[in-house]
Amino acid sequence: MEEKNLITDRSRELLEKSIKVIPGGVNSPVRAFKSVGGSPRFIERGEGAYLFDVDGNRYLDFCCSWGPLILGHADPDVVEAVKSQAENGMTFGATTELEFRLADFIVSHVEPIEKIRFVSSGTEAVMSAIRTARGFTGRDLILKFDGCYHGHSDYLLVKAGSGLVTFGQPSSAGVPESITSQTAVLPLDDEEALEDFFREHGDNLAAAIIEGIPANNGLLVQRHDFMRLLRALTEKHGVLLILDEVITGFRLGLEGAAAYYGIHPDLLTYGKIIGGGMPVGAFGGRAEVMDKLSPLGPVYQAGTLSGNPLAMAAGLATLAKLADGRLYYELENKNRLFVREITEHLREYTVNVAGVASIFWIIFQKELPRRADCIDPDGISHYNRMHEKVLNSGIYIPPSGYEVCFISSAHSEDMLKEAAATLVDAIKREAHRWA
Ligand SMILES: *Cc1c(COP(=O)(O)O)cnc(C)c1O
Repeated sequence: MEEKNLITDRSRELLEKSIKVIPGGVNSPVRAFKSVGGSPRFIERGEGAYLFDVDGNRYLDFCCSWGPLILGHADPDVVEAVKSQAENGMTFGATTELEFRLADFIVSHVEPIEKIRFVSSGTEAVMSAIRTARGFTGRDLILKFDGCYHGHSDYLLVKAGSGLVTFGQPSSAGVPESITSQTAVLPLDDEEALEDFFREHGDNLAAAIIEGIPANNGLLVQRHDFMRLLRALTEKHGVLLILDEVITGFRLGLEGAAAYYGIHPDLLTYGKIIGGGMPVGAFGGRAEVMDKLSPLGPVYQAGTLSGNPLAMAAGLATLAKLADGRLYYELENKNRLFVREITEHLREYTVNVAGVASIFWIIFQKELPRRADCIDPDGISHYNRMHEKVLNSGIYIPPSGYEVCFISSAHSEDMLKEAAATLVDAIKREAHRWA
């Protein structure tokens, strides 16, 4: 794949028009390409591993809609499932068998889940899980980790300060400090900070929430010991552990990050893959906790489009193709070879690629970080400067160095080989030689 100056006139024109009626021209901020410069591509269609923009340019897609598209774009079976459901109606506001089938699939594959409820986004799933945990424990305080993203609900838009534990610094305007003061933030990968925190605050804590594998601020793979200590301390203090598997759920195999670490969370949250590309979220876990939800219990939670039939159909069609585990095996092998192919050619450069399952992350530093504050911002700038060149070579990587890449079952070994060569070239031009 050769770097060209792609024609993007139609994308530019649409951006100009959109900016007049949509803030920044986008419905989710990172789509605006603010960190990387260049003009955001307006996408016309996707097919397998490829995206096509409105100017007719083709890109090998490593963004995969930020995670949901584990089968690639417009998988024929998923499309067929959605089409045939659409012909029978899009939404009823009443219960369907599809909801039972998707719930039953997840409950029977994910050991810690006894009951589950569907919502319409990952944000909503996390928000509802936290309310449920607070309702169950009768406590207000929650704990999150610096570098983990859990959607954009008020009390989780919290920035870590400089201390080991910080409370209540909103990371967005419009979030009252009175709300974020109920959220404590700790660094990842720090057992001592964890123990100190639980000693002092454990008995007031409703829930601790952590990403399955933190993958929204680089790929910060956690040590098993750290995750197991978090599980032990939460259990000891009667605190619910919420594992946010919105990315890792059905990406890290059928049992997700809970099985990867060998831990048993009280609640788990889902989104992305379980909707097969349709808007969806879900939260589930111990029956005794989930039964606090209305109509059985006092915790209110609802949604006009919750359990939407199109989303359930797309999710079921996607999970059906993953159910025998074969695709996970293939994806993991492909990703491992791809990551190796890149890193082998870049041994003398200050760059590394982290890879887990079918996720990879390009980072312009040698050491793979486990904590947010171990990511070198200069390295992120290198990625951001490289982005436009990579895009012009026909490869769509996420428009921010903090975002991870995904491969789908539609990415063939040949496509990956060619992409690895292109990425190696682009990275070499950007990275320093490693001393
Ligand atoms: C994407 C994501 C969310 C938010 O999901 P939305 O569907 O974007 O609201 C929450 N948690 C994690 C770990 C995510 O990756």
